[in-house]
Amino acid sequence: MIALVTQLCETENQQWLSLLNGLICDDDVKLLDTMTAAEKRACDIAIIANPKVDDLTQLPNLIWVQSLWAGVESLVKAMQELDLPLVRLIDPMLSQAMAEAALAWSLYLHRDMHRYAQFQAQKTWHQIDYVEPKNRHISVLGLGALGQEAAKALSLQGFKVSGWSNSKKQIDTIACYQGEEGLKAMLKDTHILICLLPLTPDTKNLLNDHFFAQLPYGAQVINFARAGVIDRQALFTALDSGKLSHSVLDVFEEEPLPQDSPYWTHPSITVLPHISAQTNPYSASQIVANNVLNYRETGVIPGGVNINKGY
Ligand code: NAP
Repeated sequence: MIALVTQLCETENQQWLSLLNGLICDDDVKLLDTMTAAEKRACDIAIIANPKVDDLTQLPNLIWVQSLWAGVESLVKAMQELDLPLVRLIDPMLSQAMAEAALAWSLYLHRDMHRYAQFQAQKTWHQIDYVEPKNRHISVLGLGALGQEAAKALSLQGFKVSGWSNSKKQIDTIACYQGEEGLKAMLKDTHILICLLPLTPDTKNLLNDHFFAQLPYGAQVINFARAGVIDRQALFTALDSGKLSHSVLDVFEEEPLPQDSPYWTHPSITVLPHISAQTNPYSASQIVANNVLNYRETGVIPGGVNINKGY
C-alpha cells in the first residue's frame, strides 16, 4: 500500500493518482485522506509533494519516502527526525528544462534584453557593443543533476563556463573548482553567475557581501536554487551600488511573492514565478513507478538524499 501525501489541489492529486496507479499495477496508491486505519498501517511507501510533515506521522510503518520534486530542502530535517530515507526526484527531463532555463536567462543577460526593454520604455535609441560568447564567463554554483546539464548547455552555446561543487569533478569543456580558494579563483572574472546549489547549513546566505565583493564590477546573478542561498540585504546593496548590474530571481523567501515585495519593482531585478524547471508529471511518474517497482522486486531502496549532508 502506497500513500500519496501532498498539499496539491484536487485536480493535480487526481492526475498523479491516475498516472501512478496506471504504472504501479500490483499496488494501490491512495490519497492519505481516503485511507482507512488498516490501510495506513499497511502503507510502507509515501509518495510526497511538499507534505505537511505531521501527515507522515499517520503512517506508522513507512520504510521510505519518495518526493515528486527535486528540491527537498524543507523536508531534510523532518526526515532526519522521523528517521526515514528520503528519495528525491532525479529526472533527465527536469535537468533538460533547467539547462534550457540557464541558457535562456543567460542569453537574456548576455544580449542585454533587460536593458533594451528599459531603453524602449524611455524611447531611447542606444546600441550596446556586442560581446562574443567566448568572452563571456558564466559560472555555475553546484554541479549536480541540474548544474551539470546547465553548464554543458552553456558551453555548447560557446560561452566560457566554470562550475563549483563540493567534490572534485572532471567535465569536458567546463573548468571545475572546489573549496573556498576554488570559489575565489572562479568568481574573480565571472560575468554571469548561476546558482544551482541546494539550501543547506553550508550554503545558507553563501551569496553575501563578502561573496559579491569577489565578483567583478557589474556582474550578474541568476538564482534558480532557493532564496535562502542569497543574503537578501547584501543582494540589494550590491545591486544599488552597481557592483551587481542585474539579477534574475526565480525563487523567493515567500511564494507567491507578496504584492508589496521590493523585488517586483527593483529596476535591476527580473522576477520569475518559480518556473525554471517544473516537475513533468508524465516523466516523473515513470521514474517514481520504476523506483517503487524495483524496490518491490529487490527490496533495495533507491539512492536518496544524504540527510547528514542536507542534500
Ligand atoms: P544535486 O544533484 O544534489 O546537486 C547539488 C550540487 O551542489 C552538487 O554538485 C554538490 O556538490 C553541490 N554542493 C552542495 N553543497 C555544496 C557546498 N557547500 N559547496 C559546494 N558545492 C556544494 O541537486 P540538483 O538536482 O542539481 O538541484 C539543485 C537545486 O536546484 C535543488 O536543491 C533545488 O533547490 C533547486 N531546484 C530549483 C528548481 C526551480 O524550478 N527553480 C527546480 C528543481 C530544483 P557535489 O556534487 O560534490 O555533491
